[in-house]
Amino acid sequence: MTGKVYLVGAGPGDPGLISIKGIECLKKADLVLYDGLVNPLILKHVSSHCERTCRRKSDHGPFLDQEEINQKLVHSAQEGKVVVRLKGGDPFIFGRGSEEAFALAQAGIPFEIIPGITAAVAAGEYAGISLTHRNIASTVTFITGHEDPHKSHSQVNYKTLAELSGTLVFYMGLHRLSFIVESLIENGKDPKTSACVISHGTWPDQKTVSASLDQLVKKVKEAKLKPPSLIIIGECVSLRDQIAWFEKRPLLGKRIGITRPEGQTEEVISNCIELGAQPVLMPTIQILPVENWDEVDSAIADLPKYDWLIFTSANGVNHFFQRLWELGKDARLLANVQIACIGPATANSLEKHHLHCDLVPNEYRAEALSEKLKPLVSGKKLLWLRASRGRDVLPKEMTEAGAQLDQIVVYQNLDAEPSTYSESLLNEMGNLDWIGVSSPSIARNLVSVLPEAVRNKLGKSVHLASISPVTTAALEESGLKPTCEAVDYTWDGILAAIVNAENKN
Ligand code: SAH
Repeated sequence: MTGKVYLVGAGPGDPGLISIKGIECLKKADLVLYDGLVNPLILKHVSSHCERTCRRKSDHGPFLDQEEINQKLVHSAQEGKVVVRLKGGDPFIFGRGSEEAFALAQAGIPFEIIPGITAAVAAGEYAGISLTHRNIASTVTFITGHEDPHKSHSQVNYKTLAELSGTLVFYMGLHRLSFIVESLIENGKDPKTSACVISHGTWPDQKTVSASLDQLVKKVKEAKLKPPSLIIIGECVSLRDQIAWFEKRPLLGKRIGITRPEGQTEEVISNCIELGAQPVLMPTIQILPVENWDEVDSAIADLPKYDWLIFTSANGVNHFFQRLWELGKDARLLANVQIACIGPATANSLEKHHLHCDLVPNEYRAEALSEKLKPLVSGKKLLWLRASRGRDVLPKEMTEAGAQLDQIVVYQNLDAEPSTYSESLLNEMGNLDWIGVSSPSIARNLVSVLPEAVRNKLGKSVHLASISPVTTAALEESGLKPTCEAVDYTWDGILAAIVNAENKN
């Protein structure tokens, strides 16, 4: 059975700019070949058995030239694989996607093309530039600034371009900026025409330099802009002053280390990006199921004997209910038991199982939970569904209150393996601005997990943001001092605290 190839546009950077159809293709792919412009965060949609290969020379994978890519697409499909060729922006706009489609058509391989948002459109909009405008620009022209060097004569006619009154967008032109600008002015383009260069458009480190055409080269040099960059020339650039929005976000370009375990970062990533920050995923703990379920299973069998169930993390809720389900049981087993949770995130996970929580303290910490439980539990049987490690406040307090508390470990909380960090992650960690520390266990093992280069920068160029007073205390025990602490003890709270701290600077 022949497989199928999907040529998919990934958009130019912001991982939210891929289409729903593109995501669906990634989910079912056996092999994903992605090029160097693609944001690796998009690969989170890929299921784990995919082989990832990179088109550019980098530490992500082997270098493949265009002919090798065409062959790999054809051969993999012939092996019956579903292949996604993921390309920056749109596959056909200066993307050589048509050459790939041609090779597939020639080999009789079924394929589909899923458009992407091309850099000119997305980077333009993120920079506050409308490429067409009813009164200002009736045409827009996409031009390559880097023609195939083997071509005998240029297909780009600067005389014609200079005569157009609409918007000109040059791809791949940064290294030839002065040639492009001079050619246009020599051919009659007004030197005072508005223009700009957008570097890393839609990425958290997007930078835009605007100037009149005759000043553009000088200003771009001063700003040291880097590829990938687009050159946009035309009066529509002048409206940017009013409608630019992306570069005004509060954490623009800040790199924030997300210490949460793998698989629990989706929401934090999108919230970081919305604030303009670049999330760097650096799990410092791992959450795993317990190795042996015997104790959990017998606690589940005894559930009707308990008066209260206590959950102190969303992980606890999820692992417990997963096991309950696997044993062929369901929420009816909890009909006569009261449920206490440590905070809103835990209560939220419970709601996903269609259960309301009977008790949540106002302050999300074990001491506050104990205070609220104490008057209610004398003579009662309590079951705490807990992690393999954590604070031990509850047992003492509950015994003092005259309750009988049983504790069952429903999941393991272990240190992450720093040896599994990739080289590119280690590089990124060296350039962090912030690390969000979202639990005491993360606080306690942060020092052992961080590479020395980062450890030396803590409190200097790399700041710590703590989720709660308990986490701050754990950091301080390790000799670390957070720069700020969340008021609301959630990841949103951490991000809000970082915004506040940045505003003060
Ligand atoms: N197929 C891609 C373009 C590939 S050519 C698309 O449709 O966008 C590569 C060129 O695209 C780069 O040299 C640069 O000019 C432009 N480009 C790609 N991503 C960009 C980004 N995030 N910001 C600015 N320009 C970008």
